[in-house]
Amino acid sequence: MSEKSPKLRPALDGIPTYKPGKPAAADGPVSFKLSSNENPYPPLPGVLEQATRAAGTINRYPDLACTALVAELAERFGVPAEHIATGTGSVGVAQQLVQATAGPGDEVLYAWRSFEAYPIITQIAGATSVQVPLTEGEAHDLDAMAAAITDRTRLIFVCNPNNPTGTVLHREELERFLDRVPSDILVVLDEAYLEFIRDPQVPNGVDLYRDRPNVCVLRTFSKAYGLAGLRIGFAIAHEPVAAALRKTAVPFGVSHIAQEAAIASLRSEEALWERVEALVAERARVYEALVGQGWTVPESQANFVFLRLGERTADFAAACEKAGVIVRPYPGDGVRITIGEVEANDIFLRAAEEFRKAM
Ligand code: PMP
Repeated sequence: MSEKSPKLRPALDGIPTYKPGKPAAADGPVSFKLSSNENPYPPLPGVLEQATRAAGTINRYPDLACTALVAELAERFGVPAEHIATGTGSVGVAQQLVQATAGPGDEVLYAWRSFEAYPIITQIAGATSVQVPLTEGEAHDLDAMAAAITDRTRLIFVCNPNNPTGTVLHREELERFLDRVPSDILVVLDEAYLEFIRDPQVPNGVDLYRDRPNVCVLRTFSKAYGLAGLRIGFAIAHEPVAAALRKTAVPFGVSHIAQEAAIASLRSEEALWERVEALVAERARVYEALVGQGWTVPESQANFVFLRLGERTADFAAACEKAGVIVRPYPGDGVRITIGEVEANDIFLRAAEEFRKAM
């Protein structure tokens, strides 16, 4: 018998496996998970009932085209239904976008640090990541990104607000950037945290997509809508990009339960905005408390805050864990803390204060 293992694509070598946020400890003192930008609230009113009803038909495949949900989204955004493509979370759609545009020899351009799935899905496709460092202010450096475009660039991710720094791009600077991108390069505006934005100068990607055929908007039901566990996200894109997304989708990847829960969530807007508003208020409280403690905090428009801790990153994360909150460390870089329940935020703030005093 041969001792050789099955041949795998060399492109996979060295891929960092996606690190999900560390779960809250099952034992020990109170422990809150502030490591995955999840919504601390339970499903919106009516969602569980509709999802439970949908569960009655799990012996059947779901509607491949997500017809009812797509119709509802198309009406809401005022876009043709053919421009909407769903996927298994927006990370699933992002992966399809890379698969549809880039392969060996091609470049995928994005800011760094940003959403950690970008390098992984790029490498899986066999394409090359081009990472453009964030500015001093932890924001996208659009001039440097425009300068990094080559004739091999196939896709550009723009994460607005940026994960993990929470910084945003304003309409004017983003439009100026889009004007500089050749029309045959796809620009993906990843708006996973759009609902948490309160800065009126931040554009809605859907407005930018309308007259720009190379712009695609990525949205998710995982964050504000609180359906992270059901894996459903979508893109709004012109043809032929939307058609390419339908080709690259995992067949029946979005379950009937997810489709129905998404529809119910869209119809529960009032409760949605109440919750988002409460999280935004908590974000302001956490931000101000951290600044009061002496931290430099980038102003976040998302449901998390970022502390650039450099070499202290791991120690800070350990101190938070000991206090009862799990945060997300990016070794050597910084820590991202999701805005959670008031109690969790309080525990985090106490841990941050103690750490600061000992620094
Ligand atoms: N984009 C960004 C910027 C994110 O932070 C995340 C989640 N961490 C996603 C996309 C993916 O979310 P989901 O797949 O749950 O829609």
